[in-house]
Amino acid sequence: MNKCSVCGHPRNDQAMKCPECGSFYSKITEIIAEQEALEEMQTLRGRCKRILTSNEVKQALLEELKLIWAGLTKTGAFALFVIFVFVFALIVSVL
Ligand SMILES: [Zn+2]
Repeated sequence: MNKCSVCGHPRNDQAMKCPECGSFYSKITEIIAEQEALEEMQTLRGRCKRILTSNEVKQALLEELKLIWAGLTKTGAFALFVIFVFVFALIVSVL
């Protein structure tokens, strides 16, 4: 049976990383896992999961909103602003 190169814990052939020390058995699986984690982070599902699994849900939500806002390009922010103004004008004209 193979062993983890980092801590020597017997490795399961199906597992990608060591259950004992958490290190990956090969560089490629490590890169793939990192990529998946990164993609997961950027999806709405990943964001929701992080907010829901956080201890401070309110704080996490604020942090996510800040991240989304920081990630927006100027054009994106402008488009959001235009939509907001349009909706506001619509509401005002209906009232
Ligand atoms: Zn290990």
